[in-house]
Amino acid sequence: MDLSYILNQLGEDREQYFNAVAPPIVQTSNFSFNSVADFRKAMSNEFEANLYSRGNNPTINILRKKLAALDGAEDALVFGSGVAAIAIPIIALLKSGDHIVCVENSYSWTIKLFTKLLPRFGVTCTFVDGTELKNFEAAIRPETKLIYLESPNTFSYELQDLAAIAQLAKSRGILTMIDNSYCTPLYQQPIKLGIDLVAQSATKYIGGHSDVVAGVVTGSKALLSKIFELEYMGIGASMAPQSAWLLIRGLRTLSLRLQRSFESTKIITARLQQHAAVDQVIWPFLPSFKQAELAHQQMQGCGGLFSFTLKNSSLQKIEAFCDALQHMLMAVSWGGHESLIIPAIATIAADDYDANNYRHQLIRMYVGLEDAEYLITDMEGALSALKP
Ligand SMILES: *Cc1c(COP(=O)(O)O)cnc(C)c1O
Repeated sequence: MDLSYILNQLGEDREQYFNAVAPPIVQTSNFSFNSVADFRKAMSNEFEANLYSRGNNPTINILRKKLAALDGAEDALVFGSGVAAIAIPIIALLKSGDHIVCVENSYSWTIKLFTKLLPRFGVTCTFVDGTELKNFEAAIRPETKLIYLESPNTFSYELQDLAAIAQLAKSRGILTMIDNSYCTPLYQQPIKLGIDLVAQSATKYIGGHSDVVAGVVTGSKALLSKIFELEYMGIGASMAPQSAWLLIRGLRTLSLRLQRSFESTKIITARLQQHAAVDQVIWPFLPSFKQAELAHQQMQGCGGLFSFTLKNSSLQKIEAFCDALQHMLMAVSWGGHESLIIPAIATIAADDYDANNYRHQLIRMYVGLEDAEYLITDMEGALSALKP
């Protein structure tokens, strides 16, 4: 399906709402019926009918159609956050005694889900270095029900070979799920590579304006309707119609925003690599990236998150650099219009800083929609203030 058609037209039936170009926010909790027969029909298929907005809603339906089509999936479910889009499918599809193989260095709350929440319900998890297929093979047990991936992750960007892992999982009857927030379906289409479920934090690139928290999962109708019937409805992590409307608006400019973020990141990472005060720059589309070949093989483009380290790195030096930035905001999250910086040292107690741990030295930058030169000037200014 044509990308422009999906973003501008798919799912929108304008004659239903006065030919308004922008869809309405159908701000209602419930829907009424003219006959018991119609009422009963809606009750029996809440996955598709408009009955109650914890399940379905016309504004949410427009969004679901677009997000499913972007992934080349049969359907999509949308959630009040990205973590709900990760947790609820797993809670729905696994049971006590089941085992998960998860790639290491995945999103912090994903790790907490697998190490703290699910074990309370008898589900265990093994974390593996995802850069080698054999590590997944070695970790699989008879009770393994899910292989969970995040490629790339959003701090050190290690990739997994999605097609190879999907093939391995299929041969063992194991379900696969990926967090595809970094690439979005525009730059990586895991379902086409054989992955079963694709989750995204829609808070990031899909929303794109740092004003909504939301999540999505796409996959087959069979899997999604199973998730919907009990856990989606029963845990109640649905999305508000207002959020769905903001995401539909975000989608209108998704390809433009991604392209801008991608192009600026190319320029900024190349310039930083040449800077005397910078040690390493880590971004999947840099020729120096360890898995650059795989990145170009399975990704059509690259998100605007990258990390770098300073030469002679120290806690004080990283702090001085970040504090000296004038235009880049220091904040969590990413995917909005504004460029952001987060040093790994902000996520640990200052006393825990280990000078020999390279992950502690990482400074993550998200490249937003500002002019690349404006951002480079800000970074160069902060770098030049550092003592060698
Ligand atoms: C932000 C993020 C999430 C969680 O999404 P929320 O919308 O914050 O719940 C999951 N995975 C990745 C990679 C993220 O960046």
